[in-house]
Amino acid sequence: MKTSFLLIALMMSAVNMPFAAQLPGDILIKNGYIMPLKPGSKDLPDHDILIHEGQIAAVGTHLPAAGRKVINARGKFVLPGFVDTHSHLWVTTMRGQFRNRDGKFFPVSNQLGARMQPDDIYIAMYSGAVELLSGGITSSGDFFDNIKGPAWGDVGLKALKDSGIRAVMYYGGPDKTTKSPIDMDHLLSLAQQQKPDDRVKLGLGWRLPRELKDEQNWAMRQKEFRLAKQHNLPVQVHVSGDADAMFNALIKRNFLNSSLTVVHATDATQQQLIALKKSGGSLALTPISEQRVGYGLTRLDHFSTLTRKGLGIDGNALAGSGDMFATLRLAALTLSGATKDETQPDARQLLELATWHGADTLGLSAVTGSLEQGKRADIQIIDPDALNMSGFGGGDPAALILYSARPENVTTVIVDGHIIKQDGHMQNPDEGLLKRKANESARRLLSTSE
Ligand SMILES: [Zn+2]
Repeated sequence: MKTSFLLIALMMSAVNMPFAAQLPGDILIKNGYIMPLKPGSKDLPDHDILIHEGQIAAVGTHLPAAGRKVINARGKFVLPGFVDTHSHLWVTTMRGQFRNRDGKFFPVSNQLGARMQPDDIYIAMYSGAVELLSGGITSSGDFFDNIKGPAWGDVGLKALKDSGIRAVMYYGGPDKTTKSPIDMDHLLSLAQQQKPDDRVKLGLGWRLPRELKDEQNWAMRQKEFRLAKQHNLPVQVHVSGDADAMFNALIKRNFLNSSLTVVHATDATQQQLIALKKSGGSLALTPISEQRVGYGLTRLDHFSTLTRKGLGIDGNALAGSGDMFATLRLAALTLSGATKDETQPDARQLLELATWHGADTLGLSAVTGSLEQGKRADIQIIDPDALNMSGFGGGDPAALILYSARPENVTTVIVDGHIIKQDGHMQNPDEGLLKRKANESARRLLSTSE
């Protein structure tokens, strides 16, 4: 036990990023093409954004630069950071293992996940979050369902905090079997320590009984759900596999409410979606992983009834990479292909889905998801000065961003007023060290799993 704590301490000191230490002074983003992405809002060409104490203090023109750190955004697109509504960052160090020979996602992640020690969790979640940030994702709803003891929960929370990302950590159980209870005492003790303006918040990573007739298991699940509700913790739950029966059970047993986010529900009936809408609940769709594991095609038009919905990565390793542009593109192409209609979807609506609606899905729309005065400064700047974005003569850049942009075109990332990436470079992490630690952990998991 002592050795493992020493290892964690060493690893943490090695890759520690002191983003939370102190805020820089005022930041002025100057002369950018501002896309606020609040539904109904208009783009603001050649505008400035003033960031004061981590908050968007003003959006305007000719804001004075004196005494402020100036980021020149001329010729660049300034957007809210993307919101990844559902992920499992702890599987990051299993990249390339699903369908590596005959391995499938669930058995492989169960097998390797069982071997993970807290230091493996830390590096997976930390490096996964840094990857998200690097590609303009500033918030993540991270479903952490590999918590084998308090030390696992603690390092996961620390990894998210250290990375600089905004997150809700949905505290889950020790595995995906749903046999064991979630450590509600530990979750509640962590939740009690959180402050209203903490960047990383806690939620419950809840699961339904695998056997839906198992009333004993339901009693355990009901207790977890009730406790989360009592303490105002948001809840996420997967609806996949026996999805139709699971969704019906959620409705019948009265679990739908405004702090619940249903994940996947690929083939949900309109009746089920209407019940979710009426409850005020939300939906997280993860097009790449849903199609990869064979849940079906994620057709956005199928979910048009719901306004509270967003997109998610569902684990960088399962999606291949933590890339919201690729996620958006797959969602867009699936829809135009399935409807045989080139005008589906609207590019701007899709960008809003990955920003404003994503924040709304996680209950964070008062804090993030759009560029407007009073919100926390979660911002990405996309520089189209790259071969894959060149040849754009002007007009609405939404389609250019949707169909052409890639994570490497995101040159600046700001979270909660902290500059995480600037001029194309991540400010803090030693990427070489991070890759080495992630590869070492991945090799260790593989070598001990036979
Ligand atoms: Zn998931």
